[in-house]
Amino acid sequence: MVNTNIVRKVDKVGRVSLPLSLRESLGFSRQNPLKMQAEGSCIVVQKYVSSCFLCGEKEGLAVYRTFPICAKCRALLKKAADEWPPQQA
Ligand SMILES: [Zn+2]
Repeated sequence: MVNTNIVRKVDKVGRVSLPLSLRESLGFSRQNPLKMQAEGSCIVVQKYVSSCFLCGEKEGLAVYRTFPICAKCRALLKKAADEWPPQQA
């Protein structure tokens, strides 16, 4: 952890601006989504990397409605759809 001694207030609607020096040093650009999570008493902000909604894979994603799905899961879903309805035993 880098101690910057930068202190910012949360505004009326809950926003906090990220200092330019931190954004630049961490490679955060203006339009990139960020992921936020609580860890103990800290809020961790990191670059958001999209992953497959079903398995967590980060490569070969395509978005179906709002869900990113990887090529392997798309193939499995297509196979399941092609075989629908399942054979009765
Ligand atoms: Zn997947």
